[in-house]
Amino acid sequence: MAEKRKYKKRFCKYCESKVDFMDYKEVGALRFSLSERYKIMPRRLTGNCKRHQDMISVVIKRARAAALVPYTVTRKQVITQPFENLR
Ligand SMILES: [Zn+2]
Repeated sequence: MAEKRKYKKRFCKYCESKVDFMDYKEVGALRFSLSERYKIMPRRLTGNCKRHQDMISVVIKRARAAALVPYTVTRKQVITQPFENLR
């Protein structure tokens, strides 16, 4: 599947950039773990470690409550390439 290649690199991006604390206001960092419909990406796809995945899920939920990240998106709002910053 061509879809799978997107997530080929299996390492924790947050460990690599040595993130110890995540701020819900930094939406740019959260985007690594959000799908194009703003769902939280599962760890098996992103390769994040357990520690950072737990952080992310808390922080994303906080960001949603603060309306920085939408809970749901309609078809028109879908961002086409959310992972373009990765490469
Ligand atoms: Zn990590």
